[in-house]
Amino acid sequence: MKYRSTRTRSETYTARQAVLSGLAPDGGLFLPEELPKLDSSFLQDLSRRSLSEVGFEVSRHFFEDISSDTLNTLVTEALSFPAPLVPLQLADDSSISTLELFHGPTCAFKDFGARFMARLMSWYNRNENAELTILVATSGDTGSAVAHGFLGVEGISVVLLYPKGKVSQIQEQQLTTCGQNIQAVEVLGTFDDCQRLVKEAFSDQELLAQRRLSSANSINIARLIPQSFYYFTACGQLSPSLLPAIISVPSGNFGNLSAGLFAREMGAPIKRFIASTNANDIVPNYLDTGVYSPRPSKHTLSNAMDVGAPSNFERLQTFFHNDLEEFQALLEGKSFTDNETLACMKDVHERCGYILDPHGAVGLLGLQRSLTSQERVQNGAVFLETAHPAKFASAVEGAIGIAPETPDSLQGCLKRDKQSILLEEPKFERLKEILTTVR
Ligand SMILES: *Cc1c(COP(=O)(O)O)cnc(C)c1O
Repeated sequence: MKYRSTRTRSETYTARQAVLSGLAPDGGLFLPEELPKLDSSFLQDLSRRSLSEVGFEVSRHFFEDISSDTLNTLVTEALSFPAPLVPLQLADDSSISTLELFHGPTCAFKDFGARFMARLMSWYNRNENAELTILVATSGDTGSAVAHGFLGVEGISVVLLYPKGKVSQIQEQQLTTCGQNIQAVEVLGTFDDCQRLVKEAFSDQELLAQRRLSSANSINIARLIPQSFYYFTACGQLSPSLLPAIISVPSGNFGNLSAGLFAREMGAPIKRFIASTNANDIVPNYLDTGVYSPRPSKHTLSNAMDVGAPSNFERLQTFFHNDLEEFQALLEGKSFTDNETLACMKDVHERCGYILDPHGAVGLLGLQRSLTSQERVQNGAVFLETAHPAKFASAVEGAIGIAPETPDSLQGCLKRDKQSILLEEPKFERLKEILTTVR
């Protein structure tokens, strides 16, 4: 498989180049040259396929330079936790289920991408002498998933940028207590500032001459590919009579949704997607009006989706050939306020006892608003639950009056001391100083 940038379409790149550099030299994002179609015999038997089997079957098309045995081990180690589909007993919406993507070590779906990418990068990097620095901007969950994915990995260090005061307490503890090869940088600014700083670092030739930098944001293609796996197993867990499925994806940078589109293109039986957002409704607005106008991000309860300039939009544009009608044929956009989100969490808890986190609630709201009465009967409707509710305990408690239980994996980091470097102003020069002095 060759890869191309979303911008200069004439050049091609190897999987290794795409994975290790993250961003294309022209500033575009990598896309596979073409998406493979999985064998129909494989697809017919989806209900019997495990996540690792799907993972191997998909990845062998994308990473042809890695031997089957190595790839199999890599996939199996990365996907060491389940992604169960749980039906919700909501009286009037009987076909709605949630795909729980929070059973990984940091309790958010980003574990899928981060663990896979860390192992892939470490493999591609195995013969290099110079250390590789992974630079990540995070609005919370990315950073901790990436940090845990790379923790202790030889030859790789990680620098995490996060906006001060704009991530939850648990998220901050997860980001700042890893130690070893992980360094957190707390930025007095917004998530967009953090993303801009990362972009500036990647275009600073002087810095690039001193350090081998790579990115681990959702812009890295190695993050997206593993996120396509669970769309297949979600369909496999639905009764065949309810296929094709309709899937609502709570979205911020639109990596997860891009992966869903890949899965559909590779043969996952999916009818359409709902792009569900909080008040940062740039993509829903685009889908309604054809006008794409990025804005500064707004702070909301579902803070991992507080993105004003979604980094994967460029990929979506290339995927849909810049054609609004192509976009609209597969995607519907819906956005929701914090009050609607809280009311949904309360309603679901009262009706069936299930505890949603604010991101999952946005996903469910998208389904409820978008499904037609015919679809409610004919199609399995799935929303992705992207984080464990305990990661957003205060929002959950505000909505339903009780605190969710904290899973063991989160308890550990709550006890350790925070360690981070403060960036008093979101200025690149200061970050550059840190990057040239740390380790
Ligand atoms: C990152 C994240 C999202 C948004 O995913 P994108 O791929 O950026 O659209 C949604 N929910 C949670 C909990 C997240 O951490």
